[in-house]
Amino acid sequence: MARIAYNNRMPIRVLSDNIASQIAAGEVIERPASVIKELVENALDAGAGNITVNVEGGGRALMRVADDGAGIPAAEVELAFARHATSKLQSADDLNHVQTLGFRGEALASIASVSQVSIITRSPAETAGVQARLEGGALLSQIPIGAPQGTVISVENLFYNVPARLKFLKSETAERSHISALFTRYAIAYPAVRFKLVLDNRTHFQSSGSGDVREVLAAVYGVEVARQLIELGGSYDAPPPTAPPPDDDDALFLHDRAVRDSIVVRGFISPPALNRSNRKEITLFVNGRWVQDIRLSTAVLQAYHTMLMVGRYPIAVVLLNVPPEDVDVNVHPAKSEVRFRYADAAFSAVERAVRKTLTAHAPIPHFAPRQWSLGGEARGGQPAFQTDWGAFAAPAAPPAPLSQPLDAAQPEAAPLAEPTPSGQQPLPAADVPLLRVIGQVGAAYIVAEGPDGLYLVDQHAAHERVLYEAYRLQRAAAQIVSQALLEPVAVEVAPGAAALLEGQIEALQRIGFSLEPFGGNTFLVRSLPTILGPVDPVRAVRVVVEDFEEDETLLAAEVEARLIARVCKRAAVKAGQVLSPAEQVELIRQLEKCVSPRTCPHGRPTMIHLSVDAVERQFGRKG
Ligand code: ADP
Ligand code: MG
Repeated sequence: MARIAYNNRMPIRVLSDNIASQIAAGEVIERPASVIKELVENALDAGAGNITVNVEGGGRALMRVADDGAGIPAAEVELAFARHATSKLQSADDLNHVQTLGFRGEALASIASVSQVSIITRSPAETAGVQARLEGGALLSQIPIGAPQGTVISVENLFYNVPARLKFLKSETAERSHISALFTRYAIAYPAVRFKLVLDNRTHFQSSGSGDVREVLAAVYGVEVARQLIELGGSYDAPPPTAPPPDDDDALFLHDRAVRDSIVVRGFISPPALNRSNRKEITLFVNGRWVQDIRLSTAVLQAYHTMLMVGRYPIAVVLLNVPPEDVDVNVHPAKSEVRFRYADAAFSAVERAVRKTLTAHAPIPHFAPRQWSLGGEARGGQPAFQTDWGAFAAPAAPPAPLSQPLDAAQPEAAPLAEPTPSGQQPLPAADVPLLRVIGQVGAAYIVAEGPDGLYLVDQHAAHERVLYEAYRLQRAAAQIVSQALLEPVAVEVAPGAAALLEGQIEALQRIGFSLEPFGGNTFLVRSLPTILGPVDPVRAVRVVVEDFEEDETLLAAEVEARLIARVCKRAAVKAGQVLSPAEQVELIRQLEKCVSPRTCPHGRPTMIHLSVDAVERQFGRKG
């Protein structure tokens, strides 16, 4: 390769402005959502109280961002589109303590070089506004025009002159959900600003700008999720954040303490029981800027250590405020990465804040019955996850994380039945012996006797497994039975979910749901899979979207398996539900017939086993 290139070597030339600016633009504007990000950040920098975004065709056809901020004086409009032209930095030193979201003066130039742009803007000092149009970076026209204070920038035909980029754009649905994710997160970080997102002429998301962040969370995640989110120690609403009072940790040196106290962490996190199959719902803002930072998201995850199953992730919106001089925002043209001067302090500030909140919210139980084993020999002393009962020993193989396609390669391979990598131990067969039901405890577990001791069956997990296998059998036989509702029911879902749900209508149809778009974020449900029994259609539909992500690498069958697992989870009997003796027996009989009775479809155990041997040891009858 290198040799061929060398033989065909061309003389060195300076790239034309046109090529140079397209290359530079490529670093800032990767996809439609990057345009929205830059324009929304500009609006926020301009002090806007209202930001309205219109998107058509997944952003390729049109993106329009309107704000009521400071506007651009007529004389500066052309300059605003020049590369490295900014009103936010005066001197090189300013780079050391950037207080605005923008500062590189590249966004408008980049956007204009890869699209057709028009702008209408008026600053409060001027009586008339300006309208200008640009194409491929060149100014086509500029005329005075009457306009309200603020700025409206329309970006049409993105990448019309960069075919290579166009090729890499994902589906409209995917681009829409990127835009929605970005937009809604900014709305959370700026609750006092009114955000509105219109997708293809439908209002997709709206916040009131009241300053009440819970209200925004409800609009983004849905009321139910928002209600459960826990506020991190510091107060979210107190602007600007002040340092927390120093706490008991006297061992810190003064300097370290000063660094630590200069970092303020605010935000919301989910209780461990509310979790997701991917880490995309961990949102981080540093000084008002949405950033991707693996270390900080690891800090969040670490705080949940042992509280979450392998492969499950919390929902978190964490806002970090650090003195501007302690963070370098100039790492990448897209400004989505930052570098901390005191990276360890930032990490531990986040970890501590999350951990403290979690501990205060749900103290970790002390009772850890290690002698209880998972369906056979005791193995592994490491607690894998916490339940209300305490820490259970980890199964030899970790439960299949949901982010892996369920049953992808080996259908119904039970995590417990897989050989350990080290292979030291013969594992018991994956089925369950015939059990004699003794009764129910705590309205959550069924106690049963087997040939080798006592079994405690989690009724919810067990029922999930039973429903899941029955459902999949029906599906495999193409015999999904669907029950029409007496009357169609309208279900409204969170804005982020609506686009995804729309993309899954056919998949849902195949598994017995029939629904259709009904305007806005509302869908009409006409029928539900019979196997679910009498479930509330609203909840049944919400549950299929609540944890859904668009992952284009998933095969249709995997998407289906996930949907089915999710629906079964919701349809299964809950802990707290009293079962009649007949129902208990029936559930155990059905579980015995399952191919993988030992785990629920999400990989959690359905039962734990206390062997006669272990009991005898506990009572001191045996060595
Ligand atoms: P940067 O934000 O890094 O300064 P941009 O290319 O995004 O660079 O914008 C260039 C300049 O145009 C900004 O510095 C600002 O003065 C002006 N500008 C851009 N968008 C707006 C807006 N929505 N309202 C007011 N001024 C704006
Ligand atoms: Mg900018």
